[in-house]
Amino acid sequence: MNMKNMNYKRAAGLAVVTALFLTGCSEKESKIAFTAMDTYMELTAYGDADETLQEAKERILELEGLLSVTNPESEIYAINHAGGADISVSAYTYELLDFAYTMAARTDGALDPTIYPVVDAWGFITGEYRVSGEQALSALLERVDYTAVQLLDKAVRLPDEMELDLGAVAKGYAADAVAEIYADAGIASGLVYLGGNIQAVGSKPDGSPWRIGIQEPDGEGYVGVVSVRNAAVVTSGGYERYFTDEDGNRYWHILDPSTGKPADSGLLSVTIVTESGAYADALSTAIFVMGPDRAEAFWKEYRDFEMVLLTTDRRVLVTEGLSAAFTLENEDYPLRWID
Ligand code: AMP
Ligand code: MG
Repeated sequence: MNMKNMNYKRAAGLAVVTALFLTGCSEKESKIAFTAMDTYMELTAYGDADETLQEAKERILELEGLLSVTNPESEIYAINHAGGADISVSAYTYELLDFAYTMAARTDGALDPTIYPVVDAWGFITGEYRVSGEQALSALLERVDYTAVQLLDKAVRLPDEMELDLGAVAKGYAADAVAEIYADAGIASGLVYLGGNIQAVGSKPDGSPWRIGIQEPDGEGYVGVVSVRNAAVVTSGGYERYFTDEDGNRYWHILDPSTGKPADSGLLSVTIVTESGAYADALSTAIFVMGPDRAEAFWKEYRDFEMVLLTTDRRVLVTEGLSAAFTLENEDYPLRWID
C-alpha cells in the first residue's frame, strides 16, 4: 500500500486528537464544531473555508436525517416500520446500505446491519441499559440476518420483524462525504473529526503528516501514534460505550451477531487505516468482532487496509504497511508486526 496516497481516518480520544493537531500552521484555520449522529464532531480546514465547512456540516445533518434509527422522518426508520413493504430511498441511503451488505458478506456476518433488535434490547439506543439473557438473545437473533435485506431498484424491502442499524458505518460514510466536499472546494489541508472516526485531508499546513493518537483504553494517554496523509483512521473499542452491572461486569456496544452478546474476541480496540472512511468504519467494527486471529487471516486475504490491534492481554499488533507510519508511545504494550 502506498502510504503517501492513503486517505486515513480514525478514532482516538477527543482530547488526544485535539492536542496533536493544533500545531504550527501559518494558513488561516477555519473550524466548526457541533453534535450530530450522537457524536461531538469537529471539522477543521486550512484556507478560506467557512462556507465549505457549513456545507459539510449540512451534509452530515442531511445524512443523519436519512439514517437515524430514532427519527420517525428518516428513511431507515421508514424501512424499519414498513411491515415488509418496499420503501423508496435516496441515493445516499441506498449506496450505504448496499455497501454495508457487501461488507457483511465479506466479513462473513461479523458486520451485520440488521443487528438493531439486539442493540436495542441491550439499551444502547435509549440509554436504558439492561442485561439480556440467553433465551431472549436467541429469540432476537432470529430477526438478525443481513441476507434477508432485499435491495431493489432504488428501493429496499425488509422482512416485517427485522430492523436496520447503520451505526457501524454511517460516520465513516459521512467523513468520506466531507472529504469530497473539501476536495471539490480545493482544500488541501484539514482534519475531519467525527468521534471515533477521523479523516485526514492532505497534510498539515506545514506539509508534515497528520499525527493521530490511538487511545489507551481506560487510560489517559495513547498507546501509539499513526502519521498519515489523506487517510481515514477509524477506531472501534469496547471502552467507547458501555455499561456495568451490579457485579461489575461490563457490557459494550459492539455485539457479536453470532451470540447477540458484546463481542469478546480478545481485543480492546481496533484501528483501521485506509483510504475510504466507510471501508475503515465497516472494518473497525467487523474486526473487533472477529478477534486477532481471524483479523490477521482477513488482512492477509485483502491487504487493502492497515490495522492496529490492542489485545485484552495488552499487546499491540500492527500490519507492516504502517511500518513507517506507526510509533509506539507506551512501552507497557509489547509490539508485534503482522506481515
Ligand atoms: P462502531 O463504533 O463503528 O464500531 O459501531 C458500533 C455501532 O454499530 C453500535 O453502537 C451499534 O449501533 C452497531 N453495531 C454493534 N455491533 C454491530 C455489528 N456486529 N454489526 C453491525 N453493527 C453493529
Ligand atoms: Mg465502525
